[in-house]
Amino acid sequence: MVLAYIGLGSNLENPLDQVERAFQELGSLADTSLLARSALYQSRAIGPEQPDYINAVAQLETSLAPLDLLDALQSIEQAHRRVRLQHWGPRTLDLDLLLYGNDTIQHPRLNVPHPYLTQRSFVLYPLADIDPNLQLPSSQSLQTLLSQCPFDGLVRLPDTR
Ligand code: ADP
Ligand code: MG
Repeated sequence: MVLAYIGLGSNLENPLDQVERAFQELGSLADTSLLARSALYQSRAIGPEQPDYINAVAQLETSLAPLDLLDALQSIEQAHRRVRLQHWGPRTLDLDLLLYGNDTIQHPRLNVPHPYLTQRSFVLYPLADIDPNLQLPSSQSLQTLLSQCPFDGLVRLPDTR
């Protein structure tokens, strides 16, 4: 079994609901369990003018191989009727494989750690909710990355579940 971290993001069609459903769907994947979830965050969109995002991170324990896990993430995205209209454009649901154990993966379909992981506050702060002592495969620590990444326009939402 491997610990994997998934970044969730949505800015269309009731994003809070999209993310909540995605957590449940991640927890129902074969050979996978949902161990932990971060708080929900609201972030400003990067790229073209569009609504704010809701972001969160899930910690999974899985025996799925990395590409099988990516396939599973993409079928969940598709079930949320995600349409890719525009690069970095708005989306009902984006699921990114942030970390897969201590692996570094370079494949045409899959780069792990996720290339933007080290710079994005809406990924780093939720990761820290789950494991503040996390180390990346590069042996960079999450704490070092956080110290270089301002909280910016992020808003940590109160837990209303
Ligand atoms: P982004 O998340 O960068 O806004 P998309 O969600 O549209 O863009 O993903 C585009 C492609 O990125 C996917 O088809 C997938 O094969 C590839 N990809 C590469 N590495 C990863 C990763 N770590 N997690 C998810 N997708 C990835
Ligand atoms: Mg993506």
